[in-house]
Amino acid sequence: MTAPPGEWYVGEIAFNRLVCQSAATIRVTGTMKLFECQNCGQPLYFENTKCESCGLRLGYLPKQEVVTALEAVDGVWSALATQGERYRLCGNAEHDVCNWLVPAEDAEIFCAACRHNRTIPDLANPENLAHWRKIEFAKHRLFYTLLRLRLPLATRSEDPNGLAFDFLSDPVGGAQGQAPVMTGHSGGLITLNVAEADAPERERQRKSMGEPYRTLLGHFRHEIAHYYWDRLVADSPAIEEFRQLFGDEREDYGAALQRHYADGPAPDWAERFVTAYASSHPWEDFAETWAHYFHMVDTLETAFAFGLRLRPKVAKGAGLAAAIDFDPYAAEMDRIIDAWLPLTFAVNSINRSMGQLDLYPFLLAPAVIWKLTFIHDQIHAVSADRARDSEHNAIRAIVAGLKRAVGSPQSTN
Ligand SMILES: [Zn+2]
Ligand SMILES: [Zn+2]
Ligand SMILES: [Zn+2]
Repeated sequence: MTAPPGEWYVGEIAFNRLVCQSAATIRVTGTMKLFECQNCGQPLYFENTKCESCGLRLGYLPKQEVVTALEAVDGVWSALATQGERYRLCGNAEHDVCNWLVPAEDAEIFCAACRHNRTIPDLANPENLAHWRKIEFAKHRLFYTLLRLRLPLATRSEDPNGLAFDFLSDPVGGAQGQAPVMTGHSGGLITLNVAEADAPERERQRKSMGEPYRTLLGHFRHEIAHYYWDRLVADSPAIEEFRQLFGDEREDYGAALQRHYADGPAPDWAERFVTAYASSHPWEDFAETWAHYFHMVDTLETAFAFGLRLRPKVAKGAGLAAAIDFDPYAAEMDRIIDAWLPLTFAVNSINRSMGQLDLYPFLLAPAVIWKLTFIHDQIHAVSADRARDSEHNAIRAIVAGLKRAVGSPQSTN
């Protein structure tokens, strides 16, 4: 799997310089978003399939959460990151859309992420392979977070309502009687319109919907939220707290969406919702807020892996200072909020220096932080790593947010 040439080139130069300057200091233990070749120390991207420095084949081990250099042994692969284990490449490696590994003795052909695919794009259309590759890049990042958060996963063969993906294209020429493919979730099945992988088409959709942000990864993080709402919230004791925070989901869903598209959001939606679309129905509010939680832990983990520290050179710089010196997958919500607001202000400013859209074109109102804390608590309750005190946690997170009253000033997106 290769990254688009432009992106890869810039990253490669930056990484080589890092290696020259301080190979020792970028060896981060306990975080996973910065990987390195076990053979030569070259820093690697999560999606790399070959070490550009020593030439060894690479693969990702989801259980160990590590990219590993590989050596061919007896028709299978030996991983430099593990001792004595043998692996096969995922069945989708033949299309260069996946770099994950499967234990050699495993009956599964596909890796932990690809075994959930029910329908892949029609590869008779040559454009679709490039689209599928982008879709899988995003989907594998989603699975990285799902696995790190220890969220339960089941395939369709393990559970009739298990998680499955259909990647579908619109009927050719708008064939009569055939509806266009709608991206969405139903009973464990996530459908994605393959056209979302086409950047001009996605940008057109973003503008027509008036959205500040639209990505494949965002789609996956939103749709998976519907899957986990069914599992973590619907029939759980948390449903009452959910209804207090997000509203009553028994409200007619179809009518609510129709109203949203006909009348638009309430003028004060930003005081209560993370996006305008979140205000359409409690299910959509949950999905939009959940997607933001994933954006935050993933981005903060990357900042942590790079040892980012912010010390803004302005009079009130102390209020914007932050050290991303913690693993967000293990942190409490107040710590996540406390680091997130200064980090996004800094990175938005960097993006503007490059003439790019804001990386994070959103503001987090106290009501949204409360909802984020609810989601944080539901996720961590599943992995049962600690007792939860949601109200206490939410108040601490909101106080952290109020102390950091920066957010994203007037988004340019
Ligand atoms: Zn190497
Ligand atoms: Zn795979
Ligand atoms: Zn949705």
